[in-house]
Amino acid sequence: MKKTNLYNDNHPMLDMKTGEQVIKYGQEPKPQPLVSELWAIRGHCDELRAQKISKRANLPLQWFDKIPSLNRTKGIEKLRAERGVLLLRNRTSAFIDQFQHPIGRCSKFYKLTAYNNCNFWCEYCYLYLTFRNMPISTHFVNYDKMFREIISFDKANIPDMLRVLNLGELCDPLAVEDITGFAEELIPFAAQETYKTKLLFLTKSDNVDSLLNIEHGGRSIMSFSINTDKVYQQLEHRTASPEARLIAAKKLQQAGYEIRLRIDPVILYSTWKKDYIDLVEKIFVFVKPERITIGEYRPSKGLASHISSRFPYSPLLKINSGLVNDGPKLRYPEEHRLAMFRVIVDAIKKHDKKIKIALCKEDVKIWKNLDMQINGLQCNCLG
Ligand code: SF4
Repeated sequence: MKKTNLYNDNHPMLDMKTGEQVIKYGQEPKPQPLVSELWAIRGHCDELRAQKISKRANLPLQWFDKIPSLNRTKGIEKLRAERGVLLLRNRTSAFIDQFQHPIGRCSKFYKLTAYNNCNFWCEYCYLYLTFRNMPISTHFVNYDKMFREIISFDKANIPDMLRVLNLGELCDPLAVEDITGFAEELIPFAAQETYKTKLLFLTKSDNVDSLLNIEHGGRSIMSFSINTDKVYQQLEHRTASPEARLIAAKKLQQAGYEIRLRIDPVILYSTWKKDYIDLVEKIFVFVKPERITIGEYRPSKGLASHISSRFPYSPLLKINSGLVNDGPKLRYPEEHRLAMFRVIVDAIKKHDKKIKIALCKEDVKIWKNLDMQINGLQCNCLG
């Protein structure tokens, strides 16, 4: 299989400002803030909490009777309309529920949904498909209900391995922490009010300074999703750079938090091998993670049209055409997965032979071929 180049100098790139011109993200004259509007729904939003967030963010609250429908824009305008806004509302369904993988390739871990969707603009984000009917980034502000559910969860009879609440399944829980102050409130709550539960924050943000001096009691795990500079520059728009994420991880590790990393999604392109080896080298310059979980690019079959309506020139569209069917997902053919995992696992083991390494939602055949133990799974989302 030929390795697809990511965007290169001869390939049209999406201008993050106009959606038309061909310049690289980060070179636009004036980068837009991640969130430029705060919305709230009258009668369905804890008003005091919304006012507090508005004050912290220094953004006026715009009140609506119902969620405004988005006009049918494409490209950058579509992204701005969906992800330049943060909608504040109460959550009516449960904050905590159990994840169920469609073909049983993962443990039934528990997730805590404090946000739906994300304000970052990763081109491969599966949430474009998940939230296709309500694509506006949303933060649920009725924390009282969430706190009650966490206390009940803490008292419930649940195996130790599943006593972790994953906050990063349907959002990036730290992307807008500077605006909401959510983690700054939740982390000390877990430290003071729970005995067995841990929180797992999975992020591509470096929004952590407000979390360094709060009481965490070892009950919050910080996990950073990390990738090569090329994948970051060309596909992970508006996130913190890989180095900024590693610096944030280092600060959190020094503050006593457990640090985990995900190298995910691994993408094959012309210089992938050298770039992923360099990435592993760089990781160990900054942190000593407890676990590293690796996952390859594995889009759902319906994701491509959602990518193309936002990123019409995305190289992922070409990559998708070389992938193979695997249940509801597309994946690289097995021999390519084996090659990419082998290179990364070997690079990690050169630094730390004892570190826990796992593959995310991968076929048992691939684990076996790599001589990796799938029993007693110690991957990102488990305790
Ligand atoms: S950080 Fe995660 S949730 Fe946010 S846009 Fe990127 S892939 Fe999606």
